[in-house]
Amino acid sequence: MASDVELVVITKNHEPQLVLDLIDLGERNFGENRDQEANPKSKWVAERSDEAITWHFVGQLQSNKVKSALEYATVIHSLDRQSLLSALIKSAIDAPKPVGVFVQLNLTEDAARGGIEPANLEHFANAVLESQNLYLLGVMGVAALDRDPRIDFETIAKASAQLQKISADSKYISAGMSHDFEAAIEFGATHLRIGTAITGNRSK
Ligand SMILES: *Cc1c(COP(=O)(O)O)cnc(C)c1O
Repeated sequence: MASDVELVVITKNHEPQLVLDLIDLGERNFGENRDQEANPKSKWVAERSDEAITWHFVGQLQSNKVKSALEYATVIHSLDRQSLLSALIKSAIDAPKPVGVFVQLNLTEDAARGGIEPANLEHFANAVLESQNLYLLGVMGVAALDRDPRIDFETIAKASAQLQKISADSKYISAGMSHDFEAAIEFGATHLRIGTAITGNRSK
């Protein structure tokens, strides 16, 4: 159902003016993957626009950047490890708005890679659900580039179904980028993270 799909425009590596231009076009959800870039960009935009926009953080987040990220971001798509969860719980107490999180899944065969193994999702999700000041939106994944993305989107959909058994509200799925969003929608994505297909090529 297309109406249930939310578009998050990824503006990384673009000038902050692009965000203002997109606000003029009606866009309200923006995503960034590096705090060093996103924090000043969000402030630059806030000084020039009164629109209520939502910043989504979608990249690897170092624990020591959490406080800074929560100055603007109210949705974290990349909760991928216990130490980050601890840092988020600590900093979200002082955050200006409630913080929503997606648990990022490890979709590779390599358990040492970032992200929560689908087999450990329930355990990890329970720790998020027990926290007082984070709300668990659902699961997030980045499909591998070297195979049919449907393989990973199916894994994400199954993990989502498993999660909804313990938390019916955690029903959202952050999946799909410029090159694979159509397949992601087929597998129930609710939040698409689209960069280049909307913004054109990045400068870096
Ligand atoms: C950059 C990025 C995107 C957007 O990628 P495009 O291919 O430009 O659509 C989505 N998700 C994450 C985590 C990203 O870092």
